[in-house]
Amino acid sequence: MQLLDTLNRPLRDLRISVTDRCNFRCVYCMPKEIFGSDYQFLSRDEILTFEDIERLARIFVTHGVSKIRLTGGEPLVRRDLHLLISMLSKIPDLDLTLTTNGALLAKQARALKDAGLKRVTVSLDSLDNEIFQAMNDVDFPVEKVLEGMDVAAEVGLLPIKVNMVVKRGLNESSVLPMARYFREKGYILRFIEYMDVGHSNGWRMDDVVPAAEIVKMINAEMPLEPVDPNYKGEVAERWRYKDGSGEIGVVASVTQAFCSTCNRARLSAEGKLYTCLFAVKGHDFRELIRNGATDDEISQEIARVWGKRGDRYSELRSENTMSLPKVEMSHIGG
Ligand code: SAM
Ligand code: SF4
Ligand code: SF4
Repeated sequence: MQLLDTLNRPLRDLRISVTDRCNFRCVYCMPKEIFGSDYQFLSRDEILTFEDIERLARIFVTHGVSKIRLTGGEPLVRRDLHLLISMLSKIPDLDLTLTTNGALLAKQARALKDAGLKRVTVSLDSLDNEIFQAMNDVDFPVEKVLEGMDVAAEVGLLPIKVNMVVKRGLNESSVLPMARYFREKGYILRFIEYMDVGHSNGWRMDDVVPAAEIVKMINAEMPLEPVDPNYKGEVAERWRYKDGSGEIGVVASVTQAFCSTCNRARLSAEGKLYTCLFAVKGHDFRELIRNGATDDEISQEIARVWGKRGDRYSELRSENTMSLPKVEMSHIGG
């Protein structure tokens, strides 16, 4: 039975955060002033086990979920992640993927592929070390991320997609070099508007570089034409190079909200289900599991939560919504 929320949107896409920890401190996501050495991350017994995650994933699939993306924090810092991949990759008809900062990808790509992962998305905000290091704030070099992508490509984790968050005054100058480089490489580069997720990144509208501006900038040097979406609800607007040399995407979550087709749910590492990236409150599934709920009971709870969903934060974004105590991106993984 297909689940529909109050705005008639089905549930198709589930993002599972496997840890709230990360080896980067990206200024727009986990700024050091807040996520410093005294920050209390979740303890091991607070996070869902691989068995919990697999069980929930299977129940979500019965409700129409056809795509699962593992995320974090940084998913590759969760110990033995390949074991979870091998459990999830056995679920039939499921598009299973993962978003990573790439730091540990060179080491783990082979094990992930062997466990059944098909493809990866790697985040990278600049090819310029000075800019990239100022953004990841742990002095992590660009070359290591590029090496991670190359190993991922070698072992066949394809197609590789690259996510670049663009923040005004920080990395706009990297847009064209990134476009040129990844066009050459044949990887799909996606530009993401800087969003007001959480409440720790000090977001201001002035910091957003609108997707239309990015397309215009690239089009002036490498002519582009629009491409139809792959499926309804695809968040990245697709553009291809007119000379046939590949495509890019832009995720205009701020300037062109796409809430009307949003079919995503997010499960945090501690088992809370969020029905919007900007949600203030999650629904506790860990509690249900630990209290011995049956699959049927869990399934009914998913149906109940989705059935009353009416989220459309980006369409309503205003001075008032910006100050809400929203969940942090590093908890629910973007
Ligand atoms: N650590 C992994 C990574 O960076 O790819 C996965 C988790 S991260 C939260 C997922 C995605 O969210 C990344 O591509 C990241 O750049 C993006 N992101 C984080 N904070 C953001 C913000 N404020 N606005 C837009 N995108 C953001
Ligand atoms: Fe870590 Fe990803 Fe957030 Fe950067 S965007 S701090 S890599 S979770
Ligand atoms: Fe979906 Fe919420 Fe983003 Fe709108 S604001 S697209 S409902 S996650």
